[in-house]
Amino acid sequence: MNLNKVSVDDINVAGKKVLVRCDFNVPLKEGVITNDNRITAALPTIKKLIEQGGKVILCSHLGKPKNGPEEKFSLAPVAVRLSELLGQDVVFANDDEVVGENAKKAVAEMKDGDVVLLQNTRFRKEETKNLEPFSSELASLAEVFVMDAFGSAHRAHCSTAGVTEHIKDTAVGYLMQKEIAFLGNAVEEPVRPFVAILGGAKVADKLNVINNLLEKCDTLIIGGGMAYTFIKAQGGSVGTSLVDDTKIDYCLEMINKAKEMGKELLLPVDAMTVKDFPDPIDAPIEVTPCAANEIPADIMGLDIGPKTQELYANAVKNAKTVVWNGPMGVFENPSLAEGTIAVAKALAETEATTIIGGGDSAAAVINLGFADKMSHISTGGGASLEYLEGKVLPGVAVIANK
Ligand code: AMP
Repeated sequence: MNLNKVSVDDINVAGKKVLVRCDFNVPLKEGVITNDNRITAALPTIKKLIEQGGKVILCSHLGKPKNGPEEKFSLAPVAVRLSELLGQDVVFANDDEVVGENAKKAVAEMKDGDVVLLQNTRFRKEETKNLEPFSSELASLAEVFVMDAFGSAHRAHCSTAGVTEHIKDTAVGYLMQKEIAFLGNAVEEPVRPFVAILGGAKVADKLNVINNLLEKCDTLIIGGGMAYTFIKAQGGSVGTSLVDDTKIDYCLEMINKAKEMGKELLLPVDAMTVKDFPDPIDAPIEVTPCAANEIPADIMGLDIGPKTQELYANAVKNAKTVVWNGPMGVFENPSLAEGTIAVAKALAETEATTIIGGGDSAAAVINLGFADKMSHISTGGGASLEYLEGKVLPGVAVIANK
């Protein structure tokens, strides 16, 4: 799918100050970056702007500071990692005001091809509310705005949307283009059969994704905690498994919609079950059939069972496009990760275009060492989910059309 937005290939930033919104919201442990995927994913756009001779001013949020600046959410470690990856000095404009005296001075001293990283945009309380004066202050630093933070594009914040009220010269970066090309192609022009796999805890979090993907795909696979509300909706017993009784009607509606549309809707036929989870966490795990009334009242389903793993792997085998979002079980506990691992393996082995929609499933695929076997691993969990819901992302909408 071609994104009909001005891109970094359509602009010339030589000698100009360019503000680039990146997603440097990386995991940190005691000040050390534990996964720099989001930084490496931002490099192509940054390098392109440097090569053109732009003055490259980067900004991002990191974590969720509540009341202004907090040292543990400083972007300082990102500046260091970026310098290493780019092979050139990245000046960190440490500034509690984000666009205060330090930042202005650092920008004023820039030469063509220089890179400055601003402090965490969420150190300003206006950021998440998309309020002034932060948007205009950010905009005052640059003549061009490039949006490349896919992971933040579902939020209309000062640095993802408000800033474009003041800078008219806007473009999307390569990461945005790539994310939307993969996710957009899958949803709008999928090579069929198109299999969508959804997991995770709650049905309520994924209502619109289920509905939208059901319309677009050929086979919809449901796993994780949300499967039990579907099983209960079909009249099955679920014991003490996670269920949302307020969503039974919704699940029935989806089951009927799938039938009417001639779509295949796959639900677990067996589950890894435990009594008294999570106390003890290493409770004995059993395999229990779950397609009908087979889960006893005091038993909880916490992962898909071996027959379901096989069923789902077979569905993926003949697919041409697969989108996956959400784990198949409580995969944080290694003894309940088998289902998620089985799906990751099936995706690694299929010839299909495989797209991993960020978040837990992306982490699972990366940690299992399957990253290079996937066609695309999204850098945005929430953003990819909203995209799969069919929503227009605010951070995309604000960028100029071609
Ligand atoms: P989400 O954020 O909606 O993608 O959900 C991810 C969470 O769902 C993970 O923390 C899993 O532990 C949890 N999860 C997956 N399967 C189950 C299950 N059968 N019961 C309870 N929680 C689950």
